[in-house]
Amino acid sequence: MNELAGASLRALPQVHRLLELGQGHELTAHPHNAVVAALRQALEEARTALRRGEAGPVLPGALLDRAHALLRAGQGPSLGRVVNATGIVLHTNLGRAPLAPAAAAAAMAAAGYCNLEFDMAAGERGSRTAGIEPLLRALTGAEAGLAVNNCAAAVLLALSGLAAGGEVVVSRGELVEIGGGFRIPDVIQQGGARLVEVGTTNKTRLDDYARAVTPATRVLLKVHQSNFRMTGFTEETPLRELAGLARERGLLLVHDLGSGALTGLRLGGRPPEVTVQDSIAAGVDAVAFSGDKLLGGPQSGLLAGRAAAIDILRRHPLLRALRLDKLTLAALEATLRLHRDGGTVPALAMMNQAPAALQARADRLAALLGPHARPEPTTGFAGGGTLPDAGIPSMGVGLRVDGPERVKAALRDGSPPVIARVADGRVLLDMLTVGDDEVPEVAAAVQRALAA
Ligand SMILES: *Cc1c(COP(=O)(O)O)cnc(C)c1O
Repeated sequence: MNELAGASLRALPQVHRLLELGQGHELTAHPHNAVVAALRQALEEARTALRRGEAGPVLPGALLDRAHALLRAGQGPSLGRVVNATGIVLHTNLGRAPLAPAAAAAAMAAAGYCNLEFDMAAGERGSRTAGIEPLLRALTGAEAGLAVNNCAAAVLLALSGLAAGGEVVVSRGELVEIGGGFRIPDVIQQGGARLVEVGTTNKTRLDDYARAVTPATRVLLKVHQSNFRMTGFTEETPLRELAGLARERGLLLVHDLGSGALTGLRLGGRPPEVTVQDSIAAGVDAVAFSGDKLLGGPQSGLLAGRAAAIDILRRHPLLRALRLDKLTLAALEATLRLHRDGGTVPALAMMNQAPAALQARADRLAALLGPHARPEPTTGFAGGGTLPDAGIPSMGVGLRVDGPERVKAALRDGSPPVIARVADGRVLLDMLTVGDDEVPEVAAAVQRALAA
């Protein structure tokens, strides 16, 4: 740090001096505590800049303006709507599944007082998942169901309730990390059980499981590989065979299915996803799956299975820490109703759009944008760690502009923010995840970003 910077640091006004100088400044319309905090932050920024030898606001007027800008920026809610032009339907960073209007409305309707734990017929205390359970049973064919905070919580609860103090047998090919540090071996340990690995990375046969069973074994665990795909010389043991072994040896079979498809989604020529119904029909004791992946609902984790197993989990003390709040429960119930009644679940509808609809949307956006914008084929994805290698043929609009990264950042900075990607030197707006009603907004956002 040079002498000049040192002198400037000492010359920075103190907060109380800035407050005096700021009398009458627009800043003072904000609550006093917030003004003081913003002035402190503006001063701290100025000190950091001076120490680094950079230019920054140091004069009182500039510091007051900077504090005012900080206050205004901090005023809006930090969580807000964005336009998803990435082509990734279940984008974990963008809130995974967009809720159906009926699900959002159900959450709104439960926002005030609601019968969360109140049995309306009896006029006494009821169960908070009473609305979800019959739907889960009807949709999956299971004897019982339960809902918790997310699929990670569902797996933790299942292992804590069904395997604690004993051994859990898992294939070496399924000791996966799902993302965000959710690793199967860690969850087993956290559930108070001991992991017994069987088979090899690429092949695990029924006999491998059978030979690993000891008097301490409680659970056979099957994990969906979700976010990666093994090809070539591979073999996994079918659920049905594992269920047979579990029955024979008096063990429980737990299935971490993850994505939670209720319909046999077939994307990119792959075999259809294993559904929750398949898992139940194969004879698992409990299957865990996410509410906000292929189910298309709010963040939640569902458990379905035999009544004997689910009832143990329903009484487990951990359930209290993992339970859902009223807004999520309302949205989840509404989403399950849509599945039951054949209604539109937005995430699934996006994955199954007709090519002509995608083409028309891309053409419309490109026409609004002019000559530097061109419709082009793209590849979208289900996302959320589901179907990692199954691209969804889509259409996008490519913007051939100078400084594509700058334009992408300007789009993110707009209102509403538009989240795009840059590939091969162009900005790409994928129409798979953009609604027809969002096209004019995206066009206006692009015009503003190009002018910025
Ligand atoms: C995604 C996934 C999870 C975690 O689900 P969350 O709902 O995000 O907690 C767990 N297991 C598998 C197999 C998954 O695919």
